[in-house]
Amino acid sequence: PLTTADPVDEHRICVCVRKRPLNKKETSLKDLDVITIPSKDVVMVHEPKQKVDLTRYLENQTFRFDYAFDDTASNEMVYRFTALPLVETVFEGGMATCFAYGQTGSGKTHTMGGDFSGRNQDCSKGIYALAARDVFLMLKKPSYKKLELEVYATFFEIYSGKVKDGKQQVQVVGLQEREVRSVEDVLKLIEMGNSCRTSGQTSANAHSSRSHAVFQIILRKKGKLHGKFSLIDLAGNERGADTSSADRQTRLEGAEINKSLLALKECIRALGRNKPHTPFRASKLTQVLRDSFIGENSRTCMIATISPGMGSCENTLNTLRYANRVK
Ligand code: ADP
Ligand code: MG
Repeated sequence: PLTTADPVDEHRICVCVRKRPLNKKETSLKDLDVITIPSKDVVMVHEPKQKVDLTRYLENQTFRFDYAFDDTASNEMVYRFTALPLVETVFEGGMATCFAYGQTGSGKTHTMGGDFSGRNQDCSKGIYALAARDVFLMLKKPSYKKLELEVYATFFEIYSGKVKDGKQQVQVVGLQEREVRSVEDVLKLIEMGNSCRTSGQTSANAHSSRSHAVFQIILRKKGKLHGKFSLIDLAGNERGADTSSADRQTRLEGAEINKSLLALKECIRALGRNKPHTPFRASKLTQVLRDSFIGENSRTCMIATISPGMGSCENTLNTLRYANRVK
């Protein structure tokens, strides 16, 4: 187990929070904003309409992160401080992961730019596409050009569902790794992923909230792995609390999601403390990302997405507490 005595290797882990604007539904239900981001690294949860007194931090629930983005921040802005530094890591031959973590509806897919729900969202504006754009730009830099790197990508999802004989099993379903030569190739791949969902009757929305979507950009040199960037749109963290649901299937899925999110936190903490033993075996998600948690040059970034409304307050606090404990 980790103790507070283990020093955190600051540059390996970046934890950020992104608040989305109140949406139409929340506004029409007269939900009120309870989140204030008073500076670029602080998030406060407070009573609605409360005038935030910056000298009285402790009377509110105050959290400090590497960065906090308010509802005016664009994807491009969030990208610049989160995933962009990791693109460099991958070119240097490292392994990088970037996670969107949060409640369903808080903006994970909006931030990342695509999932397996089949919704036609514009994936060209999300972090997947922005990272791909910069990979192809970096490839042209003289210092990297001479490495003669090849770019591959893959998009798949991890979820717990019933297999043919009725047993519950964690499944990895999606697209095979393939070579990509342009951002357009990458966008096509993400759009194909959007439409290759295989989960029977579950509605698209309900399904995407219960699965982890994984997009990877892989750099190879003469076929051998050079660096890998994994970008993950995680299952809704509120699903992890479904363990007391009356429906057995929902309960089993909830337990699996809970297990994977706990395992993820432990793996990131181990990475940040340069621990030799990363507990990746505890879930399918962390097993799949295994090679990204070990190694000298592994880095990770967590983007915790939060809804602004009072109605989401409990989930928001859970998200902030989790993000707070990752480092
Ligand atoms: P999640 O993937 O976490 O369930 P979504 O990304 O689907 O949530 O977001 C839910 C809704 O809120 C979508 O309609 C999305 O377009 C919108 N939304 C999310 N984040 C933002 C944002 N930062 N700015 C504007 N709209 C947003
Ligand atoms: Mg989503």
